Formats: sequence, C-alpha cells, structure tokens
Amino acid sequence: MSPQIDADLLHELEALKAQGLYKTERPIAGPQGPLVRLEDGREVINLCANNYLGLAQHPALLAAAHAALERFGYGLASVRFICGTQTVHRELEKALASFLGTEEAILYSSCFDANGGVFEALLDERDAVISDALNHASIIDGIRLTKAQRYRYANGDLDELEARLREARGARRRLIVTDGVFSMDGYIARLAEIRALADRHDALLMIDDSHGVGVLGAEGRGSHEAKGILGRVDILSGTLGKALGGASGGYIAASSTVVGWLRQRSRPYLFSNTLAPPIAAASLIALEIVRQEPERRARLHENAQRLRHGLVERGFDVLEGTHPIVPVMMGSAERAQRFAARLLEEGVYAVGFFYPVVPEGRARIRLQVSAAHDPATLERALAAFARVAADLGPAPEAR
Ligand SMILES: *Cc1c(COP(=O)(O)O)cnc(C)c1O
Repeated sequence: MSPQIDADLLHELEALKAQGLYKTERPIAGPQGPLVRLEDGREVINLCANNYLGLAQHPALLAAAHAALERFGYGLASVRFICGTQTVHRELEKALASFLGTEEAILYSSCFDANGGVFEALLDERDAVISDALNHASIIDGIRLTKAQRYRYANGDLDELEARLREARGARRRLIVTDGVFSMDGYIARLAEIRALADRHDALLMIDDSHGVGVLGAEGRGSHEAKGILGRVDILSGTLGKALGGASGGYIAASSTVVGWLRQRSRPYLFSNTLAPPIAAASLIALEIVRQEPERRARLHENAQRLRHGLVERGFDVLEGTHPIVPVMMGSAERAQRFAARLLEEGVYAVGFFYPVVPEGRARIRLQVSAAHDPATLERALAAFARVAADLGPAPEAR
C-alpha cells in the first residue's frame, strides 16, 4: 500500500530539504545542561536550551521530584476535576499566584495548552482580541478558537495597537495580548506603554511571560516586574518548561474570578490530564530558588552580556538587547544551517532558525545562555564562532 498522501508529503519533504528548510533532531544522551553529551559520546557546549537558571538538573529539584514520586506516585490518570487534584497542585498554584502578584493561578499541561484554553473561555462574539504580530504560535492558535473579533498589530507598534483599540471600540471586552519577551528576537515588550493604552481604552492586558519569569525583574517575577507594572496585568500565562526547571507544564495567573471561570470552562484544563506530581513538587522548589538565589539571575545576565559583547567584537551581527536570548543574524537559511553544523564540529551546539519560524531572509542562530555556563566555556564558544566564520567567509546578505 502506498497511499497518495505519502507520495505527496514525500515530495514536499524533499522540497523542504532542497530549500534548506528541513529540521532535524539531534538526540542528547544525558541530562540537559550547559554541556550536553551527544549520542556519539562527545560532550558539547549547549547554547540553545531555555534552561536559563540552570535548574534542569539541580539536585534540589531532583530530590523534590523523587520525594513526590514516593509520596504522591507517578501520575493520577485523571483530569483535575475528577480525581487529579493533589495538595501539591494546590500548593503550586498558590505559590505561582503569590510570586506573580495575582489572586490565583491554574495549572495546565503546558503553556501551549494554557494559551489554547484561555481565549475561547473568556471571549465570545461580543468581544475583541488584539494581538501582537510576533506572538507565540500557541497564542495564535488559541485566538483561532475564539469567536471574538480578531485584530493584529505589527510587532511593538503601539500606534497601530491604539488604532486597533479604537476600531474595536464597540466590543464588550477588549483584550490586548502580547508576549513579554519575543522569543525569536529577545525583545522585551513595552509593557508600561501598553498598560497605559489599555487603561486609556478600558481594555484588558494579557502577557505570555514564558521567557520572562525567573529571568527578568529585580526579583525574577518577569517582564511585568522589569517594566514596572507588577500587579497590574489582568492575565499572565507562562511555562514551567523554561527557567522554572524545564520539565513541562504551564499556567494562567489572574483574579480568582477569572481563574475560577477557567476551571469551569477551559477545555485543555477540563479534558487533559493533571500535571504529574513530581513536576508540581519540583516546580515549587524552582520558585523557591528564584526567590532565594538572585545571584543566579545576576550570573545569567553577566553571561548574556559576555556572549553579546564577544560576538559583536568578533564582527557578528547580533540583534540588540539585554535578554539571554542572543540572535546572531545569518541571512539565508542555508547559511544558518551550515554555520550551526560547523559549530557542532567545533563543539558548540546551537540551532539555526529560519522561515517559517522567522521571516524570510532573517535566518539566524539563536543562542541562549544559562546561569550554569561559566565564563571560560563561553570564551571557548566565542572562539568556535570565530573559527567557523573564518571558514565559511562573510555572510552574503546578513539582515
Ligand atoms: C515556550 C513558549 C510557550 C510554550 O510553552 P510550553 O509550556 O512548552 O507549551 C508558549 N509561549 C511562549 C511565549 C513560549 O516561549
């Protein structure tokens, strides 16, 4: 049997390969960390994980997960409202709300699910949602599920945002939604200005802070803290799969009423399994570490600065910013792929990003540092970048 679908897709897969747009996955043979072991036994410098605070193999998280495994078991085989709520889930929701400055929080299997389940539950045809053009795919998909009127504004363009707010004037609820940090560029949203606009137009503000929590703000509470609007965000979504330990899970943090409604109506919460108890327990410890070890965050930002400066000094085209997401522009997808492949030979694991993940012609290698990298490792990585660049010659049309 060889159904037509296979023939068609094979053809399209070949086309992706021909255009240099085909993604491959590289198995890692050990835990996530600043260095990772590949299948062939080689240890390479890892510059592409969201393991910002280096907690993915932190002994305290592992111990908490082990203890929860003993106390609460492996999993619950249930959604939350049937028999999937344990004390540890409640504790984590409380801790997240308190950390993020909201009344309550609700857990999901992932932030993708949180974003998938929030718009449809809160908005209907009487409402409007106004979304930044570079928002994460899960926000885009979540918005597809709502009957609300949909508006988009160009990334960070507040004039356009205001124009959209005006167009949506007749709506019952107007919800502005933005990433706190745009993950392909490392740009931080202008949240104080967006909050002011929301206030002026009596609109609600939702921030997906998946790359902000644990990373930004004096106390690591995220982009809303860094931009001075802590406690003034109507809805926050985020992940447990990045700075907060890196396993999986997501949440919405908001008023008790909004969260209470989501528990009644949010489909990924109602129809998908509860978070595994070891993850819930370890996430609690991750939050504790964020609170108690600000030096991790300091080291993370020092590392980001070191990498950014080192690359610029060596002539690379780095998107400006301060976030530990460090995009090195490569121009074409082919060059980004080739550069990443050569880096790996030089002992540095980094990944090229290209269309459709970023606009055409804006291919890049997106680096991400961790608090767990030490300066000597980063210097080795910089040396490898310089060697590969010398090897491949200058980028034909960077930017
Ligand atoms: C990573 C990310 C997500 C998805 O998080 P998961 O918990 O892995 O589903 C959602 N939104 C943004 C902005 C992200 O960066």
